[in-house]
Amino acid sequence: MAESQEKPIGVAAKPTRPQEFYDSIKRKFAEERDLRLSYRPEGTAQYTSDLTGELSRYEVDPYADAVAPREPINDTVEVLFIGGGFSALLTSARLREHGVESIRIVERGADVGGTWYWNRYPGVACDVVAYDYLPLLDELDYVPKDHYARGPEIFAHCQAIARKYNLYELATFQTTVTSTVWDPVERMWNLTTDRGDRMKARFVICANGTLSKPKLAKINGLETFKGHSFHTSRWDYAYTKADLSGLENKVVGIIGTGATAVQAIPGLGAAAKELYVFQRTPSSIDIRDDWPTDPNWARRLPQGWQARRRALARMEPRMSEAQRSKQDAMSHEEKIRRQENANIEAMMKIHQRIDAIVKDKATADALKPWYMLLCKRPCFHNDYLPTFNRPNVHLVDTQGKGITEITAKGPMFEGRQYELDVLIYATGFEVQKTGIYNQIKGENGLELNDKYRDGIRTLLGIHSQGYPNLFIMGGYQASFQFNLTDMLQAQGDHIAACIEYARRHDIQAIDATAYAEEWWVQEVIKHRGKTSRNQECTPGYYNFEGEFQRRQDGNYNGGFFQYCNHLTQVHARMEEHFSFTTK
Ligand code: NDP
Repeated sequence: MAESQEKPIGVAAKPTRPQEFYDSIKRKFAEERDLRLSYRPEGTAQYTSDLTGELSRYEVDPYADAVAPREPINDTVEVLFIGGGFSALLTSARLREHGVESIRIVERGADVGGTWYWNRYPGVACDVVAYDYLPLLDELDYVPKDHYARGPEIFAHCQAIARKYNLYELATFQTTVTSTVWDPVERMWNLTTDRGDRMKARFVICANGTLSKPKLAKINGLETFKGHSFHTSRWDYAYTKADLSGLENKVVGIIGTGATAVQAIPGLGAAAKELYVFQRTPSSIDIRDDWPTDPNWARRLPQGWQARRRALARMEPRMSEAQRSKQDAMSHEEKIRRQENANIEAMMKIHQRIDAIVKDKATADALKPWYMLLCKRPCFHNDYLPTFNRPNVHLVDTQGKGITEITAKGPMFEGRQYELDVLIYATGFEVQKTGIYNQIKGENGLELNDKYRDGIRTLLGIHSQGYPNLFIMGGYQASFQFNLTDMLQAQGDHIAACIEYARRHDIQAIDATAYAEEWWVQEVIKHRGKTSRNQECTPGYYNFEGEFQRRQDGNYNGGFFQYCNHLTQVHARMEEHFSFTTK
């Protein structure tokens, strides 16, 4: 997320056009949303992440050698992370600072890095300013090379963190946890894996990512396609070659135009003989304001410079007295109306930029997003829109319908067959299921998934009563931040502090109380009901594809500042929020 795009503070600018203009745009937004909902009433069920059987090839790791046989592991560690991405790396760094030595990462990939291990598609980069996104920069004495970091630099940074904190020592890669069961007698978690391991751990941290499991749209005939195909998070460089020269004589198709596709398409357009982009809903594309880090600026950074930036992100948004009294005088409806009008203005600027760049009028019109700013992940790219001026690049705008049929030759749309050599799925990931992929059985043998059947129940999105010594990172009921590592750092600090507290007080099991959990569920519900924005947005993963959801099954919407406050308060009054079992 670019700095200039951060959530506006205080009241939005005064509308500059007659209200009827904004109302008519809102009507168009609603029409476009309803059209999409009518095409896909099945909501999230339109996708599958069950990549087994014929679909299993879409999940095979193309970046690692075949899994080498090894003896099963049968031992005990103090802290075990399921997943080796930023959640695990950040929290481990804090645990090491607290003197915790026995830390194991169990990871499905062949290295640490999580998202940045898997996503190696051409053009992969992060839209959050690198000096904020890359964590532990003070600790590693590292300044990112550019204002926005590219994927390989971020992946290398993950590896550097793992080396600095000795996390490779006990890590087990190419290993997937299959069950996590609490033993109330030993007060230990027992884990099994797909490699026959039987590990024990005092503390388990579900660090398996917010967007980690690739998903495919359930398209009729998908498995019948005879050409080559893969998901963007399993990029087949053996086929495309590192510089994409393998596509020189190929007709390529890509399904999806979300944040991933926006970054991959410019490279594909430049390399492929022909590129067909199958679009269902366009992304909003703003300017990417990037530059190389000034070495003089980097040299002058004082010690602890990133910690200060992080502290700022946790502070309450500031408003002048005049702004505050103006806002206080406004009704709730008026505040929402002004914010919406400002968002519509921003979307109209996005439209103007398209008209200025894309030469063919029909293509330009098809690339215009008709939904409120932030209904979908905003994108920033300088080469995406110009790619559609290339004669070899063709936008297939399905006007909200999407591709519904694939034959042996390729996708069909409105009776036309698109014959392809290779088809790339940029169809995204399962969202925030961290903590519930694996079978997790708590105190009474109850699976966490079953506990959640009538709605997610946690304290701070991290603890769930009946699952002692288990911590969930990046899941629902936690705050949402565009800079995810800010959020993960806040959670990681809290988790490390809880473990340190348990060690210091000889506590063997620490569990949220039912009272504390109920308090948090009610906090989540209270804040989720504040606006009707979710229902009004075009479907996407931000709003569960337009499905009706129980109100507690989402993020905590009280703001990051409040979330951090709650973390501090809970830590200051541990006895009120947790029950403890001592030796
Ligand atoms: P998304 O879920 O955002 O996008 C999936 C895409 O597939 C959408 O465009 C969707 O259309 C389309 N789609 C699904 N089914 C069909 C179909 N049958 N026919 C045609 N199109 C279809 O996944 P991404 O991988 O793009 O992004 C996931 C998230 O990862 C981002 O939101 C972001 O949080 C993160 N990310 C961040 C990046 C950054 O920092 N720049 C870069 C890449 C990813 P529709 O919109 O209509 O549903």
